[in-house]
Amino acid sequence: MDLSPFKDWDESAWIALGGAIIAMVGTIYNIGMKRHAKRSALAAKKSAEAAERAAEQATRVADLDAARWHQEMAPPHPGDLRISPRREEGSGRWGLYVTIHLPRGYRVRGETIFKNSAPAQDARGPLNIGLYERGPADLDLHIESSEGSEDAYGAVIGLQRNVKAVHLRFWPPLETDEAGAWVCPCGGPTGDNGTGQGHWEMILSVTL
Ligand SMILES: [Zn+2]
Repeated sequence: MDLSPFKDWDESAWIALGGAIIAMVGTIYNIGMKRHAKRSALAAKKSAEAAERAAEQATRVADLDAARWHQEMAPPHPGDLRISPRREEGSGRWGLYVTIHLPRGYRVRGETIFKNSAPAQDARGPLNIGLYERGPADLDLHIESSEGSEDAYGAVIGLQRNVKAVHLRFWPPLETDEAGAWVCPCGGPTGDNGTGQGHWEMILSVTL
């Protein structure tokens, strides 16, 4: 005796069962796909976050590099400036000079700061410097003229000094100063016309 529950099934019943199985497999497949999609979305989110972190880190590294570069390219601080006097042509007076070393070309602007002036209202005078000074070079700065004379041994005596310090502002060169000139990527002031804040600034005491 055949106890198969399917024995009475006709062709259409089998077709219906086939359809039901296909539908069920489809449902399982869909659930799987949804899970997969969820996992993919999560993975995508994670990788987007990782990319964002990497970008932030790259920016930080770039900023650090720019800051380090900015320090590297700063003009060297010479400490106090010592005056050396030189006889001025014709006038019989003495030119008082100080020298700073430029390891590379800079845009430079400078002012003298006179003695006996309160810091808030420093009396100042411009220093005669070309806006762009090529380097490496020693930059000779004439800070003032003075009376004076030489003693029997040739030493200069009786110099009058009114300048107590010089204020120097430096900027990296512009492409118009020198083709292929160095740059500082820190985003600091550019000194387009030699006015405004320096990319680097220093106030140097002057001693005789
Ligand atoms: Zn810089």
